[in-house]
Amino acid sequence: MTILSELQPLHHPLFTHYNVQVHVKRDDSIHPIISGNKWRKLKYNLAQIKQNMSIKGVLSFGGSYSNHIHALSFACYQQKIPCIGVIRGEKNYASNFTLSWARYWGMKLHFVDRKTYRRRHDADYLAQLQQTFPDYFIVPEGGSNELAIAGVAEIITELNQQTTFDTLITPTGSGGTLAGLVAGDYNTGNRQHKLLGIAVLKEAGYLIDEIQKLLPSTAKQHDNWHLLTDFHRGGYAKFNPLDVGQLLEFNQVTGVVFEPIYSGKMILAFLDLLKQGYFSSGERIVLLHTGGMQGIGGMIERGVLSAKHWSMPEQAQQL
Ligand SMILES: *Cc1c(COP(=O)(O)O)cnc(C)c1O
Repeated sequence: MTILSELQPLHHPLFTHYNVQVHVKRDDSIHPIISGNKWRKLKYNLAQIKQNMSIKGVLSFGGSYSNHIHALSFACYQQKIPCIGVIRGEKNYASNFTLSWARYWGMKLHFVDRKTYRRRHDADYLAQLQQTFPDYFIVPEGGSNELAIAGVAEIITELNQQTTFDTLITPTGSGGTLAGLVAGDYNTGNRQHKLLGIAVLKEAGYLIDEIQKLLPSTAKQHDNWHLLTDFHRGGYAKFNPLDVGQLLEFNQVTGVVFEPIYSGKMILAFLDLLKQGYFSSGERIVLLHTGGMQGIGGMIERGVLSAKHWSMPEQAQQL
């Protein structure tokens, strides 16, 4: 099987101090535009759409700075699949960094208010959307469905060829990525890995059930995965200047850029856990860099991150 992303050793004085061996799986480098874990999650979804001649296009959901919407729109542009994004928010969001690109790549935007958006998993709302957009394949928010699990599971297959490790850590939004890793780990048969998800949303405990539901029945018995819900730092896309400062310093020391919404929150949680003595001496840890770099564009645009310290994502220069 081809290996899509490099496994890179990461060096930091704290790793030496606590005697842990750390690698980062560079899924951020799989594609310059399609964010790492979204690439994995879309792979088999898009294959299914291409294969089924009766499907006309794809419809999915996201917030106005969504990595998934950004990734999906580019992937559909590349593969000539019509796509619709159901976006939480108002029409004037259409000109922000993320949605400008989505429109540029041909995605049709369908704005809904917060109350409607909350119904994005309800069967009756989905049936109604299906009626409005017949022959469109509906992919849930974040791309997290059964087909996504198979794509993400391949990370474990790759890792097993690249190294031996004890613990794998991933940032967690909807839980699709963690579920895919659990499924992949169970199916390789050796089950010795500990899999940790760092929830980036507040009050994310409900995700444990969602993740269980996403697991194929064969993997439901995996009993060495955990969702850590105390490291959200105030909630989704929230972080304070101290967090950003700590992350910038970490990026500088390691030479790898982690953004503060997903992979950076995982890093901050990892450093906290390290200092709490959570890991054993000699533990071999892999951090999954899930990508999300396009999000930096929106954060610079909103003044949440400073252009002095963070660079605009590459594709910004093309528009
Ligand atoms: C969407 C996303 C996640 C969260 O993945 P889930 O499968 O929704 O848990 C993590 N990192 C990045 C960069 C993302 O874009």
